[in-house]
Amino acid sequence: MSALLFRSTNGQSPAVNLREAFLCGQAPDRGLYFPEKFPALTQDEIAAFASLPYHEVAFRVLSKYTDGIIPADVLAAICRDAYNFDIPLEKVYDRVVVMRLDQGPTASFKDFAARMMARLMGRFLHEDGKQLTVLTATSGDTGAAVAHAFHNVPGIRVIVLFPIDEVSMSQRKLMTTLSENVRTVAIDGKFDDCQAMVKRAFSDPALKHIPLSSANSINIGRLLPQSVYYFYAASRLAKPGEPVVFSVPSGNFGDMMGAVVARQMGLPVKKIVASVNDNDAFPKFLASGHYEKIVPSRNSVSNAMNVGHPSNLARLVAVYGGRMDETGRIHQQPDLAAMRRDLFSSSVSDQRTRETIREVWNKYELLLEAHGAVAWRGFLDWQEHEPLNGLPAVILETANPAKFPEEIEKTIGFAPDVPPAMTAAIQLPEDFDRLGAEYEKFKQYLIQKHA
Ligand SMILES: *Cc1c(COP(=O)(O)O)cnc(C)c1O
Repeated sequence: MSALLFRSTNGQSPAVNLREAFLCGQAPDRGLYFPEKFPALTQDEIAAFASLPYHEVAFRVLSKYTDGIIPADVLAAICRDAYNFDIPLEKVYDRVVVMRLDQGPTASFKDFAARMMARLMGRFLHEDGKQLTVLTATSGDTGAAVAHAFHNVPGIRVIVLFPIDEVSMSQRKLMTTLSENVRTVAIDGKFDDCQAMVKRAFSDPALKHIPLSSANSINIGRLLPQSVYYFYAASRLAKPGEPVVFSVPSGNFGDMMGAVVARQMGLPVKKIVASVNDNDAFPKFLASGHYEKIVPSRNSVSNAMNVGHPSNLARLVAVYGGRMDETGRIHQQPDLAAMRRDLFSSSVSDQRTRETIREVWNKYELLLEAHGAVAWRGFLDWQEHEPLNGLPAVILETANPAKFPEEIEKTIGFAPDVPPAMTAAIQLPEDFDRLGAEYEKFKQYLIQKHA
């Protein structure tokens, strides 16, 4: 059987297999890799997930992409090793549940993708006898998840850039207290600056001698594992073939694209609600067909979603037959009517986010942090347009409230319990470098670190 091919959303680079897409992150034409054709799961296969542990669901979904690339027994072992924590589905009322993706080692959903990626990349590099530098920009949680996942993986060095004033203390400590092969760099700038510097480094001919890869959600290797929990939740909540509503707190839209991938593979989905904070470029685009990225991105309490131009939109536009380049320019409009049928998007202000944390706590004794609260509110907003009609709905909680103790305490009057993994990290000494937001300085830094 020939391996599945991945094409660039910009259409200018040759198609590659999963391994190549994985190792280079961004396509040479600066587009994002996406499967040429989605492998399909039958409704029987999906229904069978209901009684399987998460790592087995992950294996069955991901093995559709890894034929001819990774032996099945190796993939199964990687899935078991990566997914050794709980995925609670907390019933709130009727068939509405909150899926907590915050039980991994860095207490955010980013652990799901980072842990899979680190293990696959480590294996590929070992097979090739090569070394690689993984370069990542983070708005708070990616850096921690990637740093933990890749910590002490042979052949890999990790450099994480984070905006100095935009991450919480717990978020910061979860990435700055590791050492060995992990370096963190505080940038005097915004997340957008960090992301722009990373993107520029990838296409800089003067850095060609440094093998770089990305662990940002531009890497297809991060996206595919994020489709698994949609299958997992739906198989446990829905009758076979019954569609589910998902509400996803969205920044770069990597998580939300996991739901789109699951649907493309055959999962029955009624609606995907892409819930965003004040960075409302997408809901405006969905309503008007006119895309205008937000520069600079707006700060908000859901800080991991402070993204003015979600990089994964290029993939979403591609699914609906359009083309958007990496700058956000649309060369061909997607099928907007179909997008509006499948997706809903709502922007939730900080005030509404805080009100939601309070309301959900008072009404259900359910503790959400700001990202999950944006998803909850987006789900309520959607229901003003369309009835749920008794279908199952899954609201994603993407971080543990303990990552934001000050904010939670301010909002509902007490601080959340801290999971043991976090307590340990927070007590270790921090070690990080500091740079301005100028690309040239960062480039010198990379050259120096490589020498
Ligand atoms: C990264 C992150 C998001 C946004 O995910 P995207 O894939 O960038 O849309 C939401 N919540 C939390 C807690 C995150 O860390």
